[in-house]
Amino acid sequence: MGGRVTPSGTPPSVRKRVAVLGSTGSIGRNVLAVAAAHPDAFEIVSLSAFRNVDLLAEQAARFGVGKVAVGEGTPQGSFPDGVEIGRGRASLEALASDPGVDLVVNALVGAAGLAPTLAAVEAGRTLALANKESLVMAGELVSRAAESSGAALVPIDSEHSSLFRCLKGVPRSELAGVVLTASGGPLRDLPTSEIASAGVEAVLDHPTWDMGEKVTVDSATLVNKAMEVVEARWLFDLPFERIEVVLHRESIVHSLVRLTDGTLLAHLGLPDMKVPIQYAMFHPDPPGGIFEDCRPGALGSLHFEPVDFGRYPCYDLVLDAARQGGTSPVIAATADEVAVAAFVDGRIRFGEIADVIAGALAAVAAGDAPDVDAVLAAEETAREAAGQIVGRLSGALSQ
Ligand code: MG
Repeated sequence: MGGRVTPSGTPPSVRKRVAVLGSTGSIGRNVLAVAAAHPDAFEIVSLSAFRNVDLLAEQAARFGVGKVAVGEGTPQGSFPDGVEIGRGRASLEALASDPGVDLVVNALVGAAGLAPTLAAVEAGRTLALANKESLVMAGELVSRAAESSGAALVPIDSEHSSLFRCLKGVPRSELAGVVLTASGGPLRDLPTSEIASAGVEAVLDHPTWDMGEKVTVDSATLVNKAMEVVEARWLFDLPFERIEVVLHRESIVHSLVRLTDGTLLAHLGLPDMKVPIQYAMFHPDPPGGIFEDCRPGALGSLHFEPVDFGRYPCYDLVLDAARQGGTSPVIAATADEVAVAAFVDGRIRFGEIADVIAGALAAVAAGDAPDVDAVLAAEETAREAAGQIVGRLSGALSQ
């Protein structure tokens, strides 16, 4: 970082140079809000968006970035003069492995996040990861690449961020397992018989977290929590049987660590994604302080209950696929992505998301996933199979 001089002639910058992939989504906008609150700590050098070029152009102007990436076929936006504009996967990979970047924030949605995650990790960049699909689809490849390059992988997902913090003080010999809390999602109080026909509006109305569309639908199916179990498996190198999920309606306790003497450590905080985002962006330095204190007296009662997994058929589908390994989780995650988009577009019913995942897992033969090409090939096949299933289901729905 040394040797650079800012235009005003002030001393060389010690700001962290940050690439924000997926800057127009819910996480991406919060990343930029944190950066704006700490102008001395962060310099945003590149941004990407899939479709929303208008907001991307505005962000590029506001943060004075030099490079952006947009989706293939996305219309030309009105970017400030001199901004380098790339398109598609290769340009995301270039931003993720840019030697002029210290920290890559991957806030992309879905399978598109995998290639940039690998590019960042292989290049030894510090990666703040919000894209859980990267670890679901290729956890072993990502972990292996991080190990050999020495790249730091810092979770943004709130549960994992809190575990990351709690586990700092726990010797491995005292760690029995981890517990992820689940709010239960937008449909947690709906009678089981009404879940399959829940409407888009009800599903997108999350009780405790304000998040993007895909993750909110995934919260309603509990696919999000299944993916988080897989994420924890790779981030913390724990076998599946040492990762539990508990229903916690208030979303104040973000995770618990189970110790070998039977006790638990908990991490509490108000449900605001800017907290784990800020923590990941500052890591390994202490986080800045822009938030209200979490006062125990103001929190009220906290509840913990077992999850009734019978209400959420997608949970077992995704987790069983992950336990199976190879390309099975790639098929499950891709089918979920296709199904969620179809549900939000009104082409299939909520209950049919599980049918699309199960159908794709049955239709596509799973194999080994020794490299990224195998993963991407499985993704393509699964996307096609899931699309066909959606086509059949939506044909039935429109009759
Ligand atoms: Mg989470």
